[in-house]
Amino acid sequence: MIISMRLHATKEEIDHVCERIAEFGYKVHSIVGEERVVIGVVGMGDVTACLESLEAAPGVESAVRISAPYKFVSREFRKERSAIRLNGLEIGGDEFVVMAGPCSVESEKQIMATAEAVAAAGARVLRGGAFKPRTSPYDFQGLEAEGLKLLRKAKQATGLAIVTEVMSDRDVDLVAEYADCMQVGARNMQNFSLLKLLGACRRPVLLKRGMSSTIKELLMSAEYIVAHGNPNVILCERGIRTFETATRNTCDISAVPVLNELTHLPVILDPSHAAGKRSLIPALARAGVAVGADGLIVEVHPWPEKAISDGAQSLTLAGFQTMMRQLDPYLRLWKTARAAETALAREAVAV
Ligand code: PEP
Ligand code: MN
Repeated sequence: MIISMRLHATKEEIDHVCERIAEFGYKVHSIVGEERVVIGVVGMGDVTACLESLEAAPGVESAVRISAPYKFVSREFRKERSAIRLNGLEIGGDEFVVMAGPCSVESEKQIMATAEAVAAAGARVLRGGAFKPRTSPYDFQGLEAEGLKLLRKAKQATGLAIVTEVMSDRDVDLVAEYADCMQVGARNMQNFSLLKLLGACRRPVLLKRGMSSTIKELLMSAEYIVAHGNPNVILCERGIRTFETATRNTCDISAVPVLNELTHLPVILDPSHAAGKRSLIPALARAGVAVGADGLIVEVHPWPEKAISDGAQSLTLAGFQTMMRQLDPYLRLWKTARAAETALAREAVAV
């Protein structure tokens, strides 16, 4: 249930509503908003009686049941987009944010060269795996703690925020020390114990869609993190497995507008893992901008032919610069569209 209070409802009115909620056996999960307070309610009980009673309470504008199973991430719960703060940046706000970097952190030389080049070309976040989920147990598993230290060094040199993957419950605290944003990889999208721990983590989470997961399952996983206390979740479409073999995965471009209808959380596109092939990345990146994503996460390597992982889909430094230049006119249109949307949303609130 969501209880929307009237504009400038008093503290007494809000407290009274919370008491009534408890009397009906429900729990107040969150209270958001300053001028107009919205109370999120969870639990089991007589919904109809509770809604009727709350609607009649002083200061209440509306009390509605959320029909989506992913309550707190749904658009029903929050109509405006959520902008997530990350090292002074906002994802889901007025800026289209590009995250770029190698699949794996391999060496100081590699990560520093990449960070400097992608920052100069307009990226705002540096990606790079220190803990790597690999299909074969015999493949490189990442530099782990050493990789995290190299990411910090690159951040200090460039000012880029860091997004890096956390693979296991055991590493959450360590990764949170270095990362501005905790990446949950496709293979871990339904690792519920990890998701619960990330709910208690102070860092935003970049949640990648599982390669065989539905959009609803992605949203349910996001709900785990939010329900456990962390509202700062960014969703990522990274391609799904289909019968098609021309690309590594199939870029489910429609997932972006579908998610934008269903959730207030920001959505970014990963064209690299979707395509698996360098030449296709710029076109898919442009599609991501056109379809209303909030940003991109792209693999870039100074020497892709020497990359330990995902070299075939990694752009060169020059290739990334070209892609960014080609994106420019699309990004100008994106900004106009986003500004118009924000103005419309403001008008709707004023009415
Ligand atoms: C990655 O970002 O390098 C990665 C392993 O991605 P995914 O989890 O989407 O396969
Ligand atoms: Mn990769």
